[in-house]
Formats: sequence, structure tokens, C-alpha cells
Amino acid sequence: MLVENPPFHVATEDAELNPLLSAEARFDAAAQALGLDDGMRKVLRSPSRELTVNIPVLLDDGRIEVFTGYRVQHSIARGPAKGGIRYAPDVTLDEVRALASWMTWKCAVTNLPFGGGKGGIICDPALLSQGELERLTRRYTAQLYEFIGPEIDVPAPDMNTNEQTMAWIMDTYSMRAGHTQTAVVTGKPVDLGGSRGRTEATGRGCMVVVEQALRKLGIDRASARVVIQGFGNVGGMAAKVMSRAGFKIIAIVEWDGAVYNENGLDIRALTEHRRQTGSIVDFADGVNMDREEAFFLETDVLVPAAKENVITSHNAHRIRAKILCEGANGPTTAAADPILHDKGIFVIPDILANAGGVTVSYFEWVQDRMGYFWNEQLVNDRMEEIMINSFRDVVAYAEKHRVDNRLAAYMLALDRVAFAIKLRGIYA
Ligand code: GLU
Repeated sequence: MLVENPPFHVATEDAELNPLLSAEARFDAAAQALGLDDGMRKVLRSPSRELTVNIPVLLDDGRIEVFTGYRVQHSIARGPAKGGIRYAPDVTLDEVRALASWMTWKCAVTNLPFGGGKGGIICDPALLSQGELERLTRRYTAQLYEFIGPEIDVPAPDMNTNEQTMAWIMDTYSMRAGHTQTAVVTGKPVDLGGSRGRTEATGRGCMVVVEQALRKLGIDRASARVVIQGFGNVGGMAAKVMSRAGFKIIAIVEWDGAVYNENGLDIRALTEHRRQTGSIVDFADGVNMDREEAFFLETDVLVPAAKENVITSHNAHRIRAKILCEGANGPTTAAADPILHDKGIFVIPDILANAGGVTVSYFEWVQDRMGYFWNEQLVNDRMEEIMINSFRDVVAYAEKHRVDNRLAAYMLALDRVAFAIKLRGIYA
């Protein structure tokens, strides 16, 4: 289902809502703080390769429609490009560029041997049949064939794509290659070379870093209140694993409403209610609440896990959470950063907070290449280790250099990628 989740307050300045400008503002701040030389700044600031494809698709009614898709490979300095593909009507090249650069920084913060990439197709998946989606995906894959691969660029799911989409990409690529090549994408079904634990990985990773942050701030985990925005791949899974681990999820905010229970929502029952009714609203074991009211509740932890630009310079002052764990990519605009900083909110920036997904994608890629698959406990334990180490690296860096967590994460990432480029040199 396509989830439309408009920002609460649409800022009048379009620039604030352009994710690329937010990404560049943060990049510039980190490059400045690191004292990166001009040449290196130019290299790191520009995407290495940008592909635009126009994809003809035979619709069910016999008409042909042409969709535009992108794949941006921001960096391959530390390994193959890595990152998801999203399907949405409002996909733009600038958005994909920003998301691709965030993947580079995310993989560097977590020390995965990948660069960063992202793809998107401008389409409304809610209006397309399964057959149309399959033909769209296969044709997009065929048009990208030379530019993706286990050693080149490894796509994964993102907004409105899932393990079925990845199965189609894997099959199309394999048919073109003449042999089955599972490691070309991650986030596949477990029966097709996917990794156990991948579906829950991003949400579980959020829980791991939230636990670290609570400990750091001396907040008792047993009584910590959590508000989650989004109940899909990231938010839904975060809610599931956190409620199972004993966290009190007091509110879930979705695109069509919010539900609240001060004693903690029964997430399993809420999931069942959504399955039956198609929505989280009117849940028997909670009360409906206005979306904005729920998002700005007083809470220990707020997890925006829906889409970009929900926290802006127009509403950041209303956040009443002690910890902000960015489950989505780019939920906070750069213009909102200083407001959160001044309010003393402990921000776990997206490039750290939601890295559990790409971490288990890395494990999937490793398992595919080994042809040997791990049990779920091993996957979860190894992911937890990487998330805890990354959290500690970022927080230690922030304390050492007296900067906030976001700037620290960017500085750490830029420094690692710049180091790789220096070691490799510029091939000419
Ligand atoms: N789309 C996810 C992200 O933004 C996962 C990417 C991946 O696993 O490659 O991190």
C-alpha cells in the first residue's frame, strides 16, 4: 500500500524541503569542521554516477506508459555502491542524490565495505497491478543491467518496494547473466538467498541504539515511553521488537491517524487490528488522537520512521522527546538541526539510527557469496555488535570534538571515505 504522509507543516521555503540541500548543508558543515581540502570536498560532494532511464511498460489495458527511473551511485570508494530503490509519485533526482549520499555516509559510519547508492521510479504503486509492477521492475532492471551487480552496485528495498520486488530484480538480472546471481540485491525472500532477520533489521537496529542512548542519559528502560511515527517496514518493526523487549509504546502515528495508550499499546493486537481493518485507528485498546498531538507528546523517545521532512524549522520547537531516533532517512531538515540542538535533544541521526537495515543487507550479501546461511540469532547478535560500536564511535567523536551527534556522524563518515580515496588515489 502506498502511504502518503505529508509533513505536518509545509514550510513555505521550498529549499528547506529539498533533501539534497539538507544533505549538502550537513556535508559542508562536516567538511568545514574537518578542514577537508577543496579537491577532496569536490570529490565527496558530487555523485560518482547518475543514471536516468525511461521505462516503457505495457499496462493491463493494453496501453503503453513510460515511467522515469533513476539510479545514483554516490560513491564506490569503500566498496560497491549500496542502497535501496523507492517507488513513489514524488521521487525526484535531487531526492535520490541526497539518499545516495546518505547511504555512503551510513555505510562509512557502520564501517561496512560499501559505498552508497539509491534508486527511484516516479510512479504511484497503489495504482499499478502486480503484473504492471513486475513488468516495470524487470524493465528497469534490464535498463540498469550493466551498472548493477554484486561487485558494482547492490540495490535493496526502500519505500514501497519489498522482497517481491527484489526477487524480480534478482531473476531478471540472473536471466540476463545466464546464471543465478543472488548477491545482486539484498532484502530478498529468505527462500531465495535472503537473510534471516532482514525484515526486522532496521527496526531492531533502532531499538539497539535507543537502548544505548537511554543508558547514556540514565533513563530507566523499563519506564521509558516511546512514540513511533510510521507503522511499516521500519516503524512497524521497531514497534514490534521494542514492545516485545518491554518498551512502553504510548503512541503510533500513521498517515491516516494516531492511536494512544498511556500504559503502552499492545502492538501485536494493533497489528492484527490493522490487518483486519486496513488502519490503526479505532483500536479497541487505545484512543484515537490527532496526528500532530501524538507526534508532539511528551515522551522519552520519538522515532520518526515514515518519510523525509517531518521535523522542520517550523515545528522542531514543539518536540517534547528526550531522544530522537531517526528511523526514516532525512526526517529532520537541516534548518531544524540547531533548534533540536538548543533544546538539548539527544539526536540519533538517521545515518546511524537506521543503519541496522543495511548492516543485515551486508550480511545477506556475504551469505550469498559464501553460499552459507546463518541462523537468526547470529544475524541479530552481529548486527547488534555493529550498531553498538557505531553508536559508541559517534558519541565518543561528538564528545571529543564538542559537536552534536549528527555533525559527529558526518565527520566520522567523511573522514573514513576521504581516507579511502587518499589511499586509492585518483586514477587518471
Ligand atoms: N533502504 C534502506 C536504507 O535506506 C536499506 C538499504 C540497503 O539495505 O541497502 O538504509
